Formats: sequence, structure tokens, C-alpha cells
Amino acid sequence: MKFARLVEFFGELEITSSRNKMVGVLADLFKEAQGDEMGKLVYLCQGRLVPFYEPLEFGIGEELAADALAKCAGIAKSEVKERFSKKGDYGLVATELLSNEGSTLEVGQVFDQLWLIATLSGGGSVAQKTSLLAGLLSQMSDEEAKHLLRIILGKLRLGIGDPTIMDGLSFARVGDKSQRKDIERAYNLCSDLGQVARLYWQNGLDSLAHISVHVGKPVRPALAERATSAAAIIQRLQHAAVEPKYDGFRCQVHKDGTTVRVFSRNLEDFSDKFPEIVKATQEQITQQQAIFEGEAIAFNPQTGDFYPFQVTVQRKRKHKIDEMQEKVPLKLVAFDLLYLDGQDYTTETYTSRRQKLREIVLPGDVLSVTEVLETSSANELEAFFFDKVQRGLEGIVAKRPDATYQAGARNFNWIKLKRSYQGELQDTLDCVVVGYWWGRGQRTQFGIGSLLTAVYDKDTDRFYTIARLGTGLTEIEWVQMREELDQLKVDGKPARVEAIVAPDVWVEPKHVIEIQADEITRSPLHTAGRKGDDLGFALRFPRMVNFIRADRTAEEATSVQEILAMFEAQGKRQGQQETES
Ligand code: AMP
Repeated sequence: MKFARLVEFFGELEITSSRNKMVGVLADLFKEAQGDEMGKLVYLCQGRLVPFYEPLEFGIGEELAADALAKCAGIAKSEVKERFSKKGDYGLVATELLSNEGSTLEVGQVFDQLWLIATLSGGGSVAQKTSLLAGLLSQMSDEEAKHLLRIILGKLRLGIGDPTIMDGLSFARVGDKSQRKDIERAYNLCSDLGQVARLYWQNGLDSLAHISVHVGKPVRPALAERATSAAAIIQRLQHAAVEPKYDGFRCQVHKDGTTVRVFSRNLEDFSDKFPEIVKATQEQITQQQAIFEGEAIAFNPQTGDFYPFQVTVQRKRKHKIDEMQEKVPLKLVAFDLLYLDGQDYTTETYTSRRQKLREIVLPGDVLSVTEVLETSSANELEAFFFDKVQRGLEGIVAKRPDATYQAGARNFNWIKLKRSYQGELQDTLDCVVVGYWWGRGQRTQFGIGSLLTAVYDKDTDRFYTIARLGTGLTEIEWVQMREELDQLKVDGKPARVEAIVAPDVWVEPKHVIEIQADEITRSPLHTAGRKGDDLGFALRFPRMVNFIRADRTAEEATSVQEILAMFEAQGKRQGQQETES
């Protein structure tokens, strides 16, 4: 496929807001894939060259992009920057400056050049990168150049997420989305949509059944549903394995001989940030290959007590890692085993995974295995829960003993019960910021006064608004928030956002904040859970309790389905309180 053809599809996606149409455009695009192009097409649709978990950077910032454009257009860099200050997008600046006819470049050729740009390193590489980029741009039409620059600068905004791509793949092959579930299963196990797409396209659905867990490829983590009481958990599971719930960073550790990689919940590589976990894995696990999960949490070396998330979060920094390791040391409490020396454990029961986990983690200072209470008694479960809360932990996670590990799934195989606050919702919500208002009164000085926040629906791959939030941020956080959001500013409502209210500034859905609210109410202003002309759901008295959660992607935010369940649970609780009083 010609690169010019690919960007025609990108252009169509940009102006399409109907999800069904987007799936149709993607299916048409995929149908034109030739040979082994499919993987590359999928990565480029994701704005990348490799799966999300591989930290490949182009190493080209706005300065270099301006250099390359100036070189190509034969004008001064200052003029390029001047135009950028008006347009705010180097892609658009390229369309103003370049007037080449369409190129004859193939997708594969452009991909290979991008690869070269990304992998050049060492002395002189900056100049080489700029000249490679200028060379590519000089062969391209303005539309091609626009999208190329956006890919390189990480600003490709096609309004499609992975679920839409997966639907598109199924439509391309069988004309409906009936194979999406199997595509998703394979994706959940290897987290590499390019690889899944390539196999699926070349060898059909059956080939996906062979995809399984591999050391070095993060597995999309299993997630927990919520419960509002110990009794509700026992009612659902009958018999439960109950573990303390630690509030830190979820880590998936991959050991391959002496190489250890630590992936975050959203599959980012945290190995460099958590050197003590890497070292401890080498020392405390003697098997050659293993994949296990646990929660990394900061602790007080004097007392051994765990710290709250606000302390652990400091370890997210990229700089001064040695200093941070000294000041805020981490422990990793392991809670699951996914793979061991050639054996896939995700298909084993919780009970057998745990037993093996206990066997392989040798005693040491950093790694340990969670304690567990096996019980069929709600009273016993509740006592365990209160004991953990009293010790400053977040609550418990109850697990179904005979369940396999279901990658990427949120279901009742794991049920979390968190400490609650009288009169408030039992749990906090992870909401995505999709816009902001400039602010009134005192807030005008920050140029930001409130945030429009949303929840996610995987089935439609869209974000639905649920609250306008103006409290819970410190002055410094407001300033920081504005800086972060301004990098994601877009002209109109992003394609994947469904909203009735319009903020002063729209932003691409990316940042997740944790919100506490008093209750979920019905509202005509928000679109979460809205069907036809019905009311949507809104949060009453929303306040931020945790600043941008870098460990969560927008698609991992609280879902519309969860809001519905919380709304129903809240109704039941209120009903109970009324009959009790
Ligand atoms: P939440 O983030 O509130 O949806 O809760 C699920 C998260 O709790 C998981 O992703 C883990 O990071 C964390 N967690 C802490 N302790 C455990 C545990 N014992 N088992 C499973 N997850 C745990």
C-alpha cells in the first residue's frame, strides 16, 4: 500500500465521528493490506512502530521538526516557528509550507525510514535524524507530511482506540465483529496488536489460539470488580481466598535468566525506576524464567509499616533514582504467578498458582508473598477486612479459588472491598479529563478553574462525561494540570468523547485522576449511562483525591458499566438504611 493511500484513510478517520463508520473505514483500510503489511498498518494507526510496551522514542522534538521543515521548505526556522505559534500543530504547518505532488512511497518504506530515525543513537545522531526526516518530507505530499510529523511528535489523533481497531480487523475479514472476542483474547495475552493482526490476517482465526504467554511480553492484567460488603462477597463466591489490598503500583515482573523487566499496570517498562525489585527478583527467584505480579509499595524502614499511595507515587520519577531508592524504598508483595519455566500458569487455578508462587519466592528483604485467608464466613472475612484497614491498608481483594487467570478481564473472579467513608460512595472513581474551564475569581490567575471528567465504555470505545470537578487540587496542582492539559488541547470535541456540556478548552482523553464523590445522581448534563433522551449519571460533590495516575491509561478508567453497578448498589444501601432507621 502506498503511504499516500494510508493517509487518505487517516484523513477520513479524522472527520468521522460515528463509531460504526470508523470501524468501516478501518475495515476498508485493512482489506487493502498486502503481504506482511498488516502489522505495520496497525502500529501506525496506534501512532507507533512497536507495541505500547516497547519504549521506542523517535528522539525528535519540536525544535528538530522545525529544523527539518525549514530545510525542506527552504525558509528560515524562525518563520516555521512563527507559523507554529499560530497553528499549534507542526502537521498543519507542513500543509501550509509544502506543495509537493503525492509521493510514490510505500508504507513499508516509510516505516523503515521511521525505524531508522528512531533507532539512530550516539554522536551525530541528532543531525542524522533531522536530515533523514527532511529527506522523507521532501518526497511527500502535504497530507503525507502532516500525518508523518504527527506520528513522529506523538500527536496523531485519529480518535480510535484498540477496541475500534479490533472491530475493524474482524469486519475486514468476516464482515461483522464476531471474531473480535478471539482477537481480544490473543491481544490480552501478548499485548502486541500488530503481531495479533498480522497472524490473524495471514493465517486466520485458528492461528490466534496458539498465542500464549511469553516472557518479555507483558500480559494485560486481570482486574477486580467491586463489592459493598463482606456478605455480598460470600454470597457470590461461597468460598473465597482473601488477600490484603495494598495501594501502590501494580507490577508485572518478567524474569528471563539474568534479565528482569518490570511492567506497570498500563504496560510501561518501569525496570529502571525500580532497581531494587529487579535485584531482588534475581536473588529471590532462582528459576530461569518466570512471570509474576505484585504490588510495589513504599515502606518505612524503621517501623516496617507501609506508606500510603501519595508516598509511593514519588518513585514514579525518572530522575535521581538512587536518591529516591534510599529515601522511599519499595517492597514488592507478590500475589500471582502467570508463567514458570515453560509452563503457562494462566490456565491453572488460583489455588495452584498461589501454591507455586509460595514455593518459588525465597526469603529476602524485598519480595514477599501476600498473606491469604481462606474462608466461607462473611464474619471472618469482615474481621480480616477491618484488621487490614486498621493497619492502614486499602481493604481486601477476595479471589475465586478455582478461577484461571483471565488476562485483561474485569470480572467477579476478583472482588475488591475498600474502606468506606460514612455517607460517601464506597469507592473512588478513575475518571479521564476531557476538557477544562478557564475559571473565575481567584482561579483566573491559573487560567483553569474546573475540569470536565469522563468514564469509558469499551464496547463503544468512547468516553462519556460524568462530572465537572473544581475541588481537591492544590494551587501547584492546578498549574501543573493546566500545563499537562495544554499539551493535549484540540480545537473541537474529540471524536471519542460524548458530551452535552462544552468546556472552554477540549483536550484529548489521556490523563486519569482519582475522584471521590458523595453519591451518583441522575443528571441531564452528562452522557454517562444516558440512553436516548434519558438522564445520564453525574457525581455529587466530586473532589480529586489523587492527581494524574500515570499508571493508568484512559481506557483503564472506571467504566460506564461500573457506574451503573455502583448506582444500583447505592440504591440498595440507601434502601437498607431507610428500613433500618
Ligand atoms: P483498583 O485499582 O482499585 O481497581 O484495584 C485493583 C488493584 O489493586 C490491582 O490492579 C492491584 O494493583 C491492586 N492490588 C493490591 N493488592 C492486591 C492483591 N492482593 N491482589 C490483587 N490486586 C491487588
